[in-house]
Amino acid sequence: MQDAPEVCVLRLGHRPGRDERMTTHVGLTARALGADRVVIAGGVSGAVETIEEVTDRFGGPFSAELTDEPRSFVRDWGGRVVHLTMYGLPIQEVEAEVREAHEREPLLVVVGAEKVPFDVYEAADWNVGVTNQPHSEVAGLAVFLDRLFEGLELDREWEDASHRVVPTETGKRVEREE
Ligand code: SAM
Repeated sequence: MQDAPEVCVLRLGHRPGRDERMTTHVGLTARALGADRVVIAGGVSGAVETIEEVTDRFGGPFSAELTDEPRSFVRDWGGRVVHLTMYGLPIQEVEAEVREAHEREPLLVVVGAEKVPFDVYEAADWNVGVTNQPHSEVAGLAVFLDRLFEGLELDREWEDASHRVVPTETGKRVEREE
């Protein structure tokens, strides 16, 4: 989030025609819950466009981009790497250490779609499980970011938004910039 080292989410293993919606949701969740950027492996330009449209309307800063070289992206990352996996150490045991490292260094958070190559497990500083039960990259990412930011991301301010939701007890209210 603002004034802290970058948090970037890398989405690996997108299966064309199958994971489009899930990949978009990884990006939207990364944005909504305080990450600064999502990088998507596998040429999914539709997901990037949707995430950029949401950022244009509801604010940023947040960026989305593609990579053809996810492995070198991880290798060359200039900070610490978390890989979210059901096989990893329980989040509640490592979150304090990750948070402390992120005060000083950028953090890359890797999520998969299908089987994640073993070199990602080896490249990660932490393989982290949000429970050791199989579920979804979107759920894992949401819980991880909320733990990382200790809930502060829920109160963040959005810049350059053309649309702003006004929370209401019932119904839908959106203010639009003229
Ligand atoms: N069978 C795949 C594997 O061995 O990597 C997992 C596929 S799962 C549908 C897709 C992604 O969701 C995983 O790569 C991981 O990033 C995330 N995920 C699923 N369960 C998780 C958990 N319990 N904790 C953290 N991340 C999880």
